[in-house]
Formats: sequence, C-alpha cells, structure tokens
Amino acid sequence: MKKIIVAIDGHSSCGKSTMAKALARKVGYIYVDTGAMYRAVALFALRHGLLLPDGSVDAAALEVRMPEVEISFRLDPETGLPQTCLCGEVVEQDIRTLEVSSLVSPVAALPFVRQALTRQQQRMGDEKGIVMDGRDIGTAVFPNAELKIFVTASAEVRAQRRYDELRRKGQDVDFAAILRNVEERDYIDSHRELNPLRQAPDALVLDNSHMSIAEQDAWLMQHFEARTR
Ligand code: C5P
Repeated sequence: MKKIIVAIDGHSSCGKSTMAKALARKVGYIYVDTGAMYRAVALFALRHGLLLPDGSVDAAALEVRMPEVEISFRLDPETGLPQTCLCGEVVEQDIRTLEVSSLVSPVAALPFVRQALTRQQQRMGDEKGIVMDGRDIGTAVFPNAELKIFVTASAEVRAQRRYDELRRKGQDVDFAAILRNVEERDYIDSHRELNPLRQAPDALVLDNSHMSIAEQDAWLMQHFEARTR
C-alpha cells in the first residue's frame, strides 16, 4: 500500500489530535502534533521570562534565544504515544495549561517561529507515512499532501470538550475563561499575516459538532482507504 501524508487542520480544540492519533495508530503511521511544538516555544518563553511588562511575549528576546529551543518527540513506552520534549525534558503536561494556551497564538504568529517549526515539520514528512495536525499543514507545510481534512465545530462545543479534558486531568478551570481562550485563538490564528488558519481548497471538511469519536474515526478511515488504495 502506498504511503501518504495526511494533513489535518482546523480550529482549536475540535478533536483533530484525537482523530489523527487514532488513525496513525491504526495504520502504523507517525503522528505529529504541531500545536504541541508551538506550545513548547510558548513554554520556553514563559520559563525564561521572555515577556514584556504587560505579560505579552518579548519577540525580540525570543528571537535571540530561538536557536536554543530544541523540540523533539519521545514515545511513551506505556501508551505508545509521542510525548513532547523541550530541550530533552518531557513537557507534555506543562504545555497544556491555560497559561500556555493564552500565550501560544501570539507566539505562533511570529514569522521567525513559524519558519523554524515549518522547516522542522517538513523534514519529518520526508518519508511520508505521517499524520500531522495543526492549522497550516494542508496549506503551508504540505501543500501537496494526498489527504487533507479541515475540522471544525461550534466554539461552545469545543470549549466544553477542552473543559472536560482539563477537569479530567484534575485542573481547576473556569468554562467562561476557556471559551474566551478558544475564541481568541480562533481570531488570532485566522487573522495572522503568515500562514493563517485557512481551509485548503482541496481539503475535505468535517463538522464534528454532533458526531461521536467512533463516527469521526470511521469517516476518516474511509477517506484514508480511498486515497491509499
Ligand atoms: O492544536 P493546539 O490547540 O494545541 O495548538 C496551539 C496553538 O498553536 C494554536 O492555537 C495556534 O495558535 C498554534 N498553531 C499554529 N500552527 C499549527 C499548529 C498550532 O499556529 N500548525
């Protein structure tokens, strides 16, 4: 069976990574969560205090230190899932906090950040056999991907899913703050100058507001099989 690149883009918290992970596991492909890579850069800025007095990111300071930001993935032996590492340390939990979520979209809008991460993502796809999710995978990272999906759902449904996920992990979170963050990220991601969130013209659209995980997995599998046959 020929190996392909599967690009899954869409709004924040719409279940892209859930479906991308499930497909990768089923067909033996590598899964790459590019949002985790942008989150790792935001975490680096937070940990090193690369912030302006108003709490926004100090872009000039981050640009100077960008060569130190080393992002990799390591397989968790228990779950078999990739865990995000920043400078060799597993930061999978630390990049999922609301603090990082609040800083990540402005960080991801910085051209020097996008250029560095896009190059790294393109290298990961050299041998195909990859499922990558993000915001610009089908438009900028792999414009020639064989299967492109654009996922969306209403902001309320997405905020509820993120709220449930963080509560399950024991975080004390406020629904209104999460909804605000989801809407703010949608806005920044869609309006930034470089590689904004856009549906690629040849992407298949999936609105999963009223779909179960099993239904969306089956939908994706059907399209994957059609492209690899
Ligand atoms: O997918 P996730 O919500 O974890 O992504 C976090 C943030 O990273 C997004 O809100 C977006 O600002 C940024 N991002 C991006 N391009 C990607 C993936 C994520 O700008 N390919």
